[in-house]
Amino acid sequence: MISVAIPVYNEEELVHLLHSRVSDVMNGIGENWEVVYVNDGSKDATLKLLLELQAKDPHIVVVDLSRNWGHMGALSAGMQTARGDAVVLMDGDLQDPPEVIPEMVRAWRNGAKVVSAVRRKREESRKYLLVLFALFYRILGALSDFPIPLNSGIFGLMDRQALDSFLALREYNRYLPGLRAWIGYPTTIVSYDRKDRAAGDGKLSFVSRIKYALDAITSFSYKPLRLSFALGIPAICLALITALALAVSGNLTGTAAILASVFFMGGVQLFCVGVLAEYIGRIYDEVRRRPISLINAVHRAQEVPSEAGQEVLPAAA
Ligand code: UDP
Ligand code: MG
Repeated sequence: MISVAIPVYNEEELVHLLHSRVSDVMNGIGENWEVVYVNDGSKDATLKLLLELQAKDPHIVVVDLSRNWGHMGALSAGMQTARGDAVVLMDGDLQDPPEVIPEMVRAWRNGAKVVSAVRRKREESRKYLLVLFALFYRILGALSDFPIPLNSGIFGLMDRQALDSFLALREYNRYLPGLRAWIGYPTTIVSYDRKDRAAGDGKLSFVSRIKYALDAITSFSYKPLRLSFALGIPAICLALITALALAVSGNLTGTAAILASVFFMGGVQLFCVGVLAEYIGRIYDEVRRRPISLINAVHRAQEVPSEAGQEVLPAAA
């Protein structure tokens, strides 16, 4: 069986179109399939529409989360609930075209255990995002200690074995494209053109994007931690040179010079403390081991009672 896991949050305008495109594609593949819609605490009619669809189509599994947990929390719940021998992950706004799935399934049938979809082109109505994405990938590419395919999002397929390896990772802050590369396994890359969202507004907040970008960098690079060295050494040199120059010129009491160096050092130190805070905050997350999300109920053609009230946890240590 092939599963498709899709997180949805306030997507009432899209639910019908989404399901008709997904089911057309999946029926065309000619294998047993299910689609797991994860309702991430939507405040509109998304859940109602999904349950109506589900009453008519036994391919549908609806996972209802206890509240809005965010994109990664919803995806993790979808991955945990999916039962397929291969699991496709995609966004629910049709920016990831379901029509690419048959190509992924073919790659899987040809032996790939991980299929990553890489964006060839990117249509985006919010132009400032394109600039931020380009900047993010450049920084990540430069910093990461492990080669991560750039321009790749969550869209892709994982074989059961790869998915189980992924779910066994003990990480709370998950940068999916990075971890999907990190687990290894025979991988195939398929490319696609990313379209603009089919309807409605983007559901990811700016803050959650920044958090995700920092998750990516902190979980694949120690380089920012070494930044204090990199900044500290020139700062010390600069301070020594200034002191020397002031001593030689006999102008050691220059208030302006002192102010400038105090600000400079203060700035460098606060910046470095900020970098440390990003890592420490994430270590704190990992230590508390709270679930990534909580499932309120799972609705499938044949309900499995034990699924309600489940925690979506990183694997136990
Ligand atoms: N999403 C979610 N929970 C959230 C925010 C978004 O499940 O808190 C879903 C959303 O419905 C969509 C996918 O995650 O299916 C990606 O979000 P979106 O398309 O808004 O992100 P963007 O395209 O703006 O990066
Ligand atoms: Mg989107």
